[in-house]
Amino acid sequence: MQTIDQFNFAGKKAFVRVDFNVPLDPEFVITDDTRIRAALPTLKKILADGGSVIIGSHLGRPKKNPEPKYSMKHILAHVSKLIGVEVQFAEDCMGEDAKAKAAVLKPGEVLMLENLRFYAEEEGKARGLADDASDDEKATAKKAVKESQKQFTKNLAALADVYVNDAFGTAHRAHASTALIAKEFATENKMFGYLMQAEVDSVEKVLKAPVKPVTAVIGGSKVSSKITVIENLLDKVDNLIICGGMAFTFAKAQGGKIGTSLCEDDMQELALTILAKAKANGVNIVLPVDALCADKFAPDAATQVCVSGQIPDGWMGMDAGPETRVLFAKTIEASKTILWNGPAGVFEFDAFAGGSKALAQSIANATKAGAFSLVGGGDSVACVNKFGLVNDVSYVSTGGGALLEMIEGRVLPGVEAIRGF
Ligand code: AMP
Repeated sequence: MQTIDQFNFAGKKAFVRVDFNVPLDPEFVITDDTRIRAALPTLKKILADGGSVIIGSHLGRPKKNPEPKYSMKHILAHVSKLIGVEVQFAEDCMGEDAKAKAAVLKPGEVLMLENLRFYAEEEGKARGLADDASDDEKATAKKAVKESQKQFTKNLAALADVYVNDAFGTAHRAHASTALIAKEFATENKMFGYLMQAEVDSVEKVLKAPVKPVTAVIGGSKVSSKITVIENLLDKVDNLIICGGMAFTFAKAQGGKIGTSLCEDDMQELALTILAKAKANGVNIVLPVDALCADKFAPDAATQVCVSGQIPDGWMGMDAGPETRVLFAKTIEASKTILWNGPAGVFEFDAFAGGSKALAQSIANATKAGAFSLVGGGDSVACVNKFGLVNDVSYVSTGGGALLEMIEGRVLPGVEAIRGF
């Protein structure tokens, strides 16, 4: 497999698929440019080698071409500032403007294409169907877009000599620019960018041959959204810490009283199956032993600490209790590989952020003592940011859905397209 480090981009035009799907305020000002910054090492390496860059990305969820509010133009100035090069713009991601500008692109220059998702072909999904379209009409429209997707992909590929995928955030999508396009390039001319490589390496460090003991911390609100993640981890980890709102479904399933805590009644059976499977696999499941409870879901609620399974009526578990924090810390600090996805409580309210903060601090302590720690999934990343611990863990993933799918054991189309399997 080609790697970006080995490749010399001198005189080459690189199509770089990035994930510049950044949040914008109503005045189109970028409110968080993390995703742009994350791709800078790749873009700068290509330019430093004497190559040129063609940036392809999506922004928002456009339903047609063009939809001005989703134009990549809104981020052009900021991207130029961050790269330190005046970035050119193609009004369309293909067609004459893109072709002409790409053709004359010189070493050190950067061209940004208009939003790839202005074309239905990027995602390969039919658009604009009437609500009452028949199944036949839907099938015909889908077939048509799949057919024109082939040409769309070829047109994109024809702009460049080399393909670099640095869009981990969309690597779980089999879209034209994230996966299909790779087939248009020879093995030696396609590769991951630095971000993509680091993301894939860090997940594999946890899931494939990790240094033991391995601890996964899975929290957040719902068991249902993390079921496949938990099931896949049961074959891979030594300890599985279950925390946050989802722990109450486990507590209730075991016969505990949980008051008005979050609970998915239809998941209780599954919770018991998970516990049984963990036991059979020799996985140590660590559940909270106490909870910081509130009399209402509010930042200024009255609070009390309750033993797990003994929460009075009218009270809800909002955060890990003090004994739980100590228990979690002991397990985490004895681990050599740690994965964290999902908060231990309603960390958005300061009164209930203590459990997640203690958790993040334990992970930071373990990391300092030599463990490898991977933090991923929107809310855990928000936690390490909030607690100022972002530089005290080994790797903070930029991918939400893509990361979860990798932890679920799935092969991502964007990864497979480069590596082949
Ligand atoms: P998820 O999106 O499933 O990862 O869940 C993240 C959300 O879970 C955050 O918004 C937390 O506020 C929420 N959460 C964590 N613990 C609890 C809890 N005990 N009760 C209600 N919500 C919780």
